[in-house]
Amino acid sequence: MTPGNLFIISAPSGAGKTSLVKALLKTGIDLRLSVSYTTRPARPDEVDGRDYHFVSQDAFEQRLKQGEFIESAEVYGNYYGTSQKWIDETILSGHDILLEIDSQGMQQVRCVFPDAVGIFVLPPSPEVLEARLRQRGQDSLEAITRRLAAAREEMAHVSQYDYVIINEKLGTALQDLTCIIHAERLRISRQLDRHRSLITQFAGMPVP
Ligand code: GDP
Ligand code: ADP
Ligand code: 5GP
Repeated sequence: MTPGNLFIISAPSGAGKTSLVKALLKTGIDLRLSVSYTTRPARPDEVDGRDYHFVSQDAFEQRLKQGEFIESAEVYGNYYGTSQKWIDETILSGHDILLEIDSQGMQQVRCVFPDAVGIFVLPPSPEVLEARLRQRGQDSLEAITRRLAAAREEMAHVSQYDYVIINEKLGTALQDLTCIIHAERLRISRQLDRHRSLITQFAGMPVP
């Protein structure tokens, strides 16, 4: 079984990463989304186990101590972590997976999976970013201020990613994201795994 591709999507809060990922999953694409653990309180429209596993600080620390997270980070004053077991099982069973995590997490995951594909989502302008955070209306004023202050710092990591999507129109950004995933699936290394006999037949010799 060929292991799946690992995609990591990051963005400053409010850039539209969750909207983009939701739209992507609705297209029916064959991709599994990792559900992170977090100490952040659930927003009104969030469902435990679907959007996040919402846990207490103590429960989070216990999982951290037991080495359950492939990566973990403090983001905007809350803790977030990704289950190592879920990643290993899902990727080894051949499924492509998507992690919606911040840049600190991306760096940690890359230490374990150097081929992980990094995708960074940018808002069209700082003003639009602020407007989206306010319009979402799900965070306190204090949380919005903290997220805006951290946005610049998060954006400084953009060059560590393989791809950048500007999320101006959601439909265009979704098309960009879909193209990235398809292109990665068509890489020669992946195609050799899937179509080795066809490729070697035409090459007339074994292909490494
Ligand atoms: P929504 O109410 O706008 O979120 O959309 P729907 O009610 O139609 O669909 C349920 C939502 O489940 C989708 O929008 C996806 O974001 C989400 N979803 C689908 N598969 C997964 C998954 O594997 N993990 C997580 N966390 N969410 C998923
Ligand atoms: P993130 O997950 O990056 O924090 P969200 O997906 O929650 O961001 O988006 C933040 C807000 O901006 C939401 O209210 C969402 O509906 C809105 N939004 C996202 N993308 C667009 C877009 N392309 N055009 C207009 N509004 C958008
Ligand atoms: P939010 O609270 O808006 O859902 O997410 C805040 C930030 O935490 C985002 O930048 C998001 O990418 C990041 N994040 C969410 N889950 C994880 C995770 O499991 N690990 C890390 N490192 N960051 C995460």
